[in-house]
This record gives sequence, structure tokens and C-alpha cells, in this order.
Amino acid sequence: MALTYDLTGKTAVITGSNSGIGLGIAEELAKAGANVVLNSFTDRDEDHAIAARIAKETGVEAKYIAADMSKGDDCRRLVADAGACDILINNAGIQHVAPIDEFPTGKWDAIIAINMSSAFHTTAQALPMMRKAGWGRVINIASAHGLTASPYKSAYIAAKHGVVGLTKTVALETAEEPITANAICPGYVLTPLVESQIPDTMKEYDMSRDDVIKNVMLKRQPSKEFATVEQMGGTAAFLCSDAAAQITGTTISVDGGWTAL
Ligand code: NAD
Repeated sequence: MALTYDLTGKTAVITGSNSGIGLGIAEELAKAGANVVLNSFTDRDEDHAIAARIAKETGVEAKYIAADMSKGDDCRRLVADAGACDILINNAGIQHVAPIDEFPTGKWDAIIAINMSSAFHTTAQALPMMRKAGWGRVINIASAHGLTASPYKSAYIAAKHGVVGLTKTVALETAEEPITANAICPGYVLTPLVESQIPDTMKEYDMSRDDVIKNVMLKRQPSKEFATVEQMGGTAAFLCSDAAAQITGTTISVDGGWTAL
């Protein structure tokens, strides 16, 4: 059987996709032919404009739906209002860094809700739609921190390990169906969020941009290069292809060797 990498006619719902990795994934899936539903909680004109630009550039249908991934009802409404959800990308995420005994409870709750529980709600809503359509892909954006830990990121690491566990469970519950569930585990990816931290870190350590990138940010990433949002998109597109139909319940690290250490 010839394998297809063409996603024409499929609809992808990508949580947290008005910037960074989510947007990179939306762009690559649209290039592969999928209709895309973008999301964030902000609902600004520029959010809707991103969807319009993708539609114009690729010829697919693209729309933006505002929904707050910290709220279970909003997560479910996003998927329901998308109308179709053949590909679900759980990507929305936030971070907070502090020692456990100083970690604000509100931040813990928000990180667990947005980075982990949202994937439970969207998946619960999407699976019946995938079953009806006879095909589905659940792709959770975890992290190298879904497989290994660092100090001061308790909520993020607990949530990302939780997402990896949820991924395996969804894979087992759908194992005999044409549906797969996998997690992508990025290392450091150069998103606008990461880029914006470089100037302050240069000042803090009195270092050049190159030194900050190689010796501070990419200290644990053996390749000493950032992964890119396009590479995350390409990995997601591969997981949606026929070639990946038997890949389920696993993690794919795109981390320049971080988790090989
Ligand atoms: P980003 O800040 O650019 O993107 C986060 C996205 O989540 C944005 O679109 C934002 O609007 C959305 N979001 C945040 N709170 C939301 C909410 N309550 N409701 C709806 N949307 C919300 O950051 P990013 O680096 O692109 O991160 C995307 C994902 O990739 C996250 O899950 C993050 O943990 C993961 N990740 C990032 C890196 C990295 O180095 N950048 C590494 C590993 C994993």
C-alpha cells in the first residue's frame, strides 16, 4: 500500500496556537493539506488575522476559536465548535519557576490545568468525533521535562510527566481503532518566548548572545542548537501520516540529545 503524507480533508485542532510551537505546527499541518483550528484565550484581531493568513497562503480552511484552556468547559467547547477534529494537538502551556516551598498554589493549579488537564478534556471531547470519522491522531506536546526533571519546575514537570502518562492511556484505549496517541517531547525550542529571555540573560551574566545560548540556555542540549517550531510541525505531520499508523503510546524526543545524557 502506498503511504500518504497528504492531510487534505482532515481537520486539526491545535490548542495554544497563536504563537510559538502551536503556530509552527498549525502552519506545517496546513502545508500538508489539513484544515486548521487555531486557539488561544486572547481573542484579538491579530489572532483571527493569523488564521486568515494561513488560509490565504495554503488554500486550506483556517479559523480561530477563543477558549481558555485552564477551564474544562472551554476545552470541550473548543473541540465541539471546531465541527470536526481528526487531529488533536494539545499544545497550550505556561511555566513558572520557584522552589517547591515557595511555589504559589495558584501557579501550581494553573499549570496543572493548562498543561495537563486541558488534554484530558479535549481528548474526551475529540475521541467520539474521531471514532465517528473512522480515523484520528492525538498528539500531545509534552517536553524533555516529561521524561526527566530539573529543579524549581515542580508543577511543569509534574504536568508534563502526567501528559506522557495520559498519552499512553489514550493509546491503549484506542489501540484496536485507526486512532493513535503520541507525545512529542521538545528540548529547547527557539520561540518568541525564549527569544525574549536572551537580552536579560545577556545582561545578568554579562555574556554575548552566543554564550548565553550555548552555555546557559543549551547547557543540557548536547547539539548546542535550538530545535525549531518547523521541526515540531514536521514531527507532528509525520505522526499524522500513514507511515506512523502503528506508532502509538510513545514519546518522540526532538531535543538535540538532551534525554540521551
Ligand atoms: P508560547 O508561549 O509561544 O505558546 C504557548 C501557547 O499557549 C500560546 O499560544 C498561548 O496563547 C497559549 N496559552 C497559554 N495559556 C492559555 C490558556 N489558558 N488558554 C489557551 N491558550 C493558552 O510557548 P511555546 O514555547 O510555543 O510552548 C508551547 C508548548 O510547547 C507548551 O506546552 C510548552 O510547555 C511546550 N514546550 C516548549 C519548549 C520550548 O523550549 N519553547 C520546550 C518543551 C516544551
